[in-house]
Amino acid sequence: MKTILITGGSRGIGEAIVRLASSKYRVAFTYNTSAQRALALSQEVGAKAYKCDVSASDQVESVIAEIKRDFGGIDLLVNNAGIAQDKLFQDITDEDWRKMMGVNLDGTFFVTRAVVPGMISKGYGRIVNVSSMWGTDGASMETHYSASKAGVIGLTKALSKELAPTGITVNAVAPGAIDTDMMKTYTDEELKEFVSEIPFGRLGKPEEVAEAVMFLLSADYITGEVLSIRGGY
Ligand code: NDP
Repeated sequence: MKTILITGGSRGIGEAIVRLASSKYRVAFTYNTSAQRALALSQEVGAKAYKCDVSASDQVESVIAEIKRDFGGIDLLVNNAGIAQDKLFQDITDEDWRKMMGVNLDGTFFVTRAVVPGMISKGYGRIVNVSSMWGTDGASMETHYSASKAGVIGLTKALSKELAPTGITVNAVAPGAIDTDMMKTYTDEELKEFVSEIPFGRLGKPEEVAEAVMFLLSADYITGEVLSIRGGY
């Protein structure tokens, strides 16, 4: 059975991916602050949870080494861990900017860099990065978030070309508005207005993103693509 690593598996979209993936793969996932939830989830689905702040390269290196020891390698990777913040462009501080890039973009880079050599030696690997529709379209009041998610798409496309000859695919998903804790940054009023613009007339469910991720993980001749899950938005 293949081994999958999912970052940020303790809540929201990552949790949905952990649940779906556990019927098909041996699952390792990371969490950062939600230790109790991660532990409960790991027991429920028979996965193994590891604490790791993906924005810290030393933590990433040691956790990936530990997972490789525990599982004998990592065949599939989902870079899902991420943060968001609503702020006017001119109010974004150096710290806000660095934190956003640190988790969303550096984190994707650190984890992927630590995992790829093992995939290359096996001649097989599947990587799915969780970007966002704001990474393709841009969102007002979320410049740093949009830039970090556009960066994830650039990394995905470039790496897909570099790794294609080695049997590794690299794709991204670009979810729209998905019903998780992350949406709590919006007020009820903002959310209502947002939903009124979605042709489906509702937010997406984390499971609906997880299904798209599972599809890309099992696809053999798709690489460098960005799959939108946005209810027609
Ligand atoms: P949640 O806020 O519900 O969950 C975020 C997850 O990321 C948690 O598991 C959290 O771990 C983890 N995480 C946050 N910071 C770090 C860090 N520094 N190191 C490691 N893990 C971290 O968000 P969603 O489930 O909504 O988002 C998941 C992904 O989907 C993100 O990349 C997000 O940008 C993207 N996305 C979400 C959309 C939405 O509408 N919800 C739309 C488009 C994209 P812990 O709780 O343990 O700290």
